[in-house]
Amino acid sequence: MSVLQETGPTLRTLALAVLAFGCAGCTGPDGTGEQTDQEQQNLNQTNGEGAGQAAAPSWALAIHGGAGSADRATTDAEDYYGALQEALSLGAEQLEAGEASLQVVENVVAALEDDPRFNAGRGSVFTSIGTHELDAAIMDGRSLACGAVAGVKNVQNPVRLARRVMEDTRHVLMAGPGADNYGVLAGVRRQPQAYFSTDRQLQRFRELRAPGRASGQSSGDAAASTAGDYTGNAGASAGPGGASHLATVGAVAMDRYGNLAAATSTGGTMLKRIGRVGDVPVIGAGTYANNATAAVSCTGRGEEFIRHTVAYDVSARIEYGGLTLQEAARQVIQETLRPGDGGLIAVGPDGTIAMEFNTNAMFRGAADSLGRFDVGIWDEVRSRQPMSDLAQAGVPQ
Ligand code: ASP
Repeated sequence: MSVLQETGPTLRTLALAVLAFGCAGCTGPDGTGEQTDQEQQNLNQTNGEGAGQAAAPSWALAIHGGAGSADRATTDAEDYYGALQEALSLGAEQLEAGEASLQVVENVVAALEDDPRFNAGRGSVFTSIGTHELDAAIMDGRSLACGAVAGVKNVQNPVRLARRVMEDTRHVLMAGPGADNYGVLAGVRRQPQAYFSTDRQLQRFRELRAPGRASGQSSGDAAASTAGDYTGNAGASAGPGGASHLATVGAVAMDRYGNLAAATSTGGTMLKRIGRVGDVPVIGAGTYANNATAAVSCTGRGEEFIRHTVAYDVSARIEYGGLTLQEAARQVIQETLRPGDGGLIAVGPDGTIAMEFNTNAMFRGAADSLGRFDVGIWDEVRSRQPMSDLAQAGVPQ
């Protein structure tokens, strides 16, 4: 239904970017002024080869906070714009400082997991028996290294455990109690189940369990077969808080060294059966990254994203079909999936960002080294500079 269009930087944003960032990429990753070969190559791409060619960014970041049906009347848009801007600023500052994309997507997703407004980590939806089971994945586009966890119950930041699975084990995907136990060994922060519950999600859970509603039915089953915008089986009305049933989170980034990374985290779908695993931790379905093509993070009806290996399909259309990132993302979301299934964010090796969805809303944000700083929920996009840039540029806030 909608695409967040590439909004080229305006003169004002470019001026602010120069003020705020100076000569982006003029110093090496260690701040010494030395440039690695890789960074030099990236800067060459950034500068463009011919006169009149638009500059490519030296880093780029996109985030999402879930796709689905969000009612304008009941969604506290200002609150969500603020949350998205905060997460975007965090990642943008780290990329600007030369942090690796893999670390940045982990940090941004962990921050969103800690934010109770999102359905990941704290604030996760409830299973049909009132518990929380969390899924997450992370992937390094440089090496195709990846890690994922499914159905964990006591890990504060599942994305950080996914990174440990990727780096410290021979495995890619760990699930259930074994994954939770590995969290103890890996030393990641743990929490009791009550930590993940929020009043907002509890209220939704109670409403949905009320007699005459979808009591006890797995949203995974219903969400896969229901026409209309994905709601995580929450029904068309989002109720107080508006978007409590959406809000899976994800981040994709290209860093100054040209490396891509993706990370996604979710509480899954409201009233899911215990043991149900969605697309998020399935590499190639909800999460994928390859330096040669794209880094992709998905959100929506997980069962559909698994069936169509959506994240990898975007990469494959670029690799084998020669499509641009934008066109590959558009085809998969608008032609392969059905209207209402969900959306994705993606970044390519040249810093191009695609944000495509076929629901009425996708909570999202995009930033790059050229001064782009956009957030959106519905079709329209709100553009502005990060607070820190405005302050540096002397713009009153
Ligand atoms: N894709 C997630 C899942 O199916 C849910 C979502 O993105 O809202 O678990």
